[in-house]
Amino acid sequence: MIRNSVDRALRDRAEAVIPNGMYGHQAVGLLPDDYPQFFSRAEGARLWDADGNELIDFMCAYGPNLFGYGNPQINAAFVRQMEEGDTLTGPTARIVEMAEAMVAMVSHADWAIFCKNGTDATAMAAVVARAHTRRKTIVRAKGAYHGWAPLFTSRRAGITPEDQAHQIICDYNDVASLEAAVAQAGEDLAGVFAAPVKHDAFIDQAPPDPAYANRARALCDEAGALLVVDDVRAGLRIARDCSWSTVGVEPDLSTWGKCIANGHPISALLGSNKARTAAGKIFATGSYWFQSAPLAAGVATMQLVRDTDYLERIETLGQRLRDGLAERASAAGFGLRQTGPVTMPLFLFEDDPDLRKGFCWSSAMLERGVYVHPWHNMFLCAAMTEADIDQTLDAAEGSFKALKAAQPLAPVEKMAFLTA
Ligand code: PMP
Repeated sequence: MIRNSVDRALRDRAEAVIPNGMYGHQAVGLLPDDYPQFFSRAEGARLWDADGNELIDFMCAYGPNLFGYGNPQINAAFVRQMEEGDTLTGPTARIVEMAEAMVAMVSHADWAIFCKNGTDATAMAAVVARAHTRRKTIVRAKGAYHGWAPLFTSRRAGITPEDQAHQIICDYNDVASLEAAVAQAGEDLAGVFAAPVKHDAFIDQAPPDPAYANRARALCDEAGALLVVDDVRAGLRIARDCSWSTVGVEPDLSTWGKCIANGHPISALLGSNKARTAAGKIFATGSYWFQSAPLAAGVATMQLVRDTDYLERIETLGQRLRDGLAERASAAGFGLRQTGPVTMPLFLFEDDPDLRKGFCWSSAMLERGVYVHPWHNMFLCAAMTEADIDQTLDAAEGSFKALKAAQPLAPVEKMAFLTA
């Protein structure tokens, strides 16, 4: 067990003043019991929990950390802009510079609207698609996360059937199911939403089938509907462009967030000229949407995206991790499925329906100073080095041994819903 007395004390205090002690994707309720809830600082690829345990962080804040926590170049731009002015009566030149940088980088994009969170961008994309077509129906894939908005969330509490009306759910990468959904929408199709890769939690990840992506494009064109790629999570870890550029398909709208300012709060809706008029008609705004300091951080991030080999480096590191893990897992006699892009891996053990092996192994990794996630895709960042990967592989070797020694494993009660 890692040191955790500070974490436990904070959890007790949080329990009193925050529902369930924590909420949303950063609540650790569905992680192994020894995972820390609270952290104190971070630098580069490393994270220190509230008790001071140092961890190589393969979650990267669930995506936002792309160039290293506290990247000096990005933070300098942020601090400079904070000193000049951040939330003002109107925007500064930074919003134009960031729009120019993203439009220049993303081939389908002719314009940008900035907002705060991924959910702002995905909710806005649905409104733009409906404004453009003056129709209602959205087609999207089962299990794909597009944010917490009532339109999209999979939790039922507080959500009315009307909130989620006018949507048809299909299966990702299944052309026949997509065609059936679009046929069912008939004259009312406003848009098709797509994740850039299948990056759903708890299951193997999958790349986009080019046939599915191309069919989605063709069906939208036939119907005059808009195709939306939700690049909030995968953006910039697959391409320096919209992620579906890798399969040669350009959407009409794409949504971005998380890493576009390396953790500073901005997200974006990008669109092509086809959708410009509709984007100009809708009303969407927020008190902090025009913040100049995060936009300055975004401009600095885009410079690094353009001018460095960060993507090739994280791909090389990701491959080194994947190969090394495969070797060590098989040497230890475990079947480990590694799926997703190498820059956004997910690890699942064979014959592990309630994740008892995954939990045990992940806890052993944590004890050895590496933060991995047992059921959500992870993220690599450009501050990682070969030495970090090799340290991770050493930890993995030790953790496979620990897993072997811990057999037979008790069921993980809190994951029983996976097998129910
Ligand atoms: N879309 C995708 C694909 C995401 O992964 C997320 C966040 N995990 C969102 C939308 C929502 O982004 P946010 O949490 O910033 O609102």
